[in-house]
Amino acid sequence: MAATLIPLPEIERLSSQVIRILGGNPGKFALQGTNTYLVGQGPHRLLIDTGEGKPAWIQALKSVLASEKATIDKAILTHWHPDHVGGVRDLLELSSKVKIYKNEPTEGVLNISDGQKFETTGATLRAFHCPGHTTDHMALVLEEENAIFTGDNVLGQGTTVFEDLTTYMQSLHRMSSQVSGRAYPGHGPVIEDGKGKILEYIQHRKEREEQVLAVLGREDNEHSRNTKCWKSMDIVKIIYKDYPENLHAPAEKGVLQILEKLAKEGKIVYNESEDRWSTNRKATL
Ligand SMILES: [Zn+2]
Repeated sequence: MAATLIPLPEIERLSSQVIRILGGNPGKFALQGTNTYLVGQGPHRLLIDTGEGKPAWIQALKSVLASEKATIDKAILTHWHPDHVGGVRDLLELSSKVKIYKNEPTEGVLNISDGQKFETTGATLRAFHCPGHTTDHMALVLEEENAIFTGDNVLGQGTTVFEDLTTYMQSLHRMSSQVSGRAYPGHGPVIEDGKGKILEYIQHRKEREEQVLAVLGREDNEHSRNTKCWKSMDIVKIIYKDYPENLHAPAEKGVLQILEKLAKEGKIVYNESEDRWSTNRKATL
């Protein structure tokens, strides 16, 4: 995957309100590195995320602040993952006055409530809670651009991971309704059609769900009165039959998230003692 990454400069001005500074932590999961964003136009800027604490990041941030003749007032953390919060210590060393904000804050960090606004010259950010990737996850709408900082719920390349598919899907729907402009992701390049990309994510998840339902329904027809019960790995082996076997175990995690969501919705049932899944006959009759 690393070979196909679109190269991004360490520092890039993306709009009159937004400058992206890479976290200096490229890798398999961080893609080109974590995106951190300096937002606003005046002498006091807002910062979104802090990278994982690499010296290259704080150096790059210092040089941007010097050339912009600006300081940071407030830093907003999208979620608790180390590659987003690891630079806080370096930031506070640079300026002890920066206020740090995060939903479900740790000691010394201020809370973010759903709908809370952060204002600075030329930019208004509205935070909204969109759990899925993590439970504390917050996205930020940049009102002047009708744009959205997606955190890790939506990425500039590839697909993301999430803790809970049900809440993740609800969050994607909410996110799509709040953006008509760009999406600024937690990793990867800017997405010009933010809403389109979020809808694409929703569509992709729906297709995966339909695949799982199709497998579960295989023997559930007029010729067979007994619904077949499936082990999650047997479902994986059908859906991912063209993929190398070493990818089946990670794929099973995704399939289990789908199964759990479908069970919550009453579309399928789980037999705990057998560890098998089947379509809910009652729901389909
Ligand atoms: Zn993350």
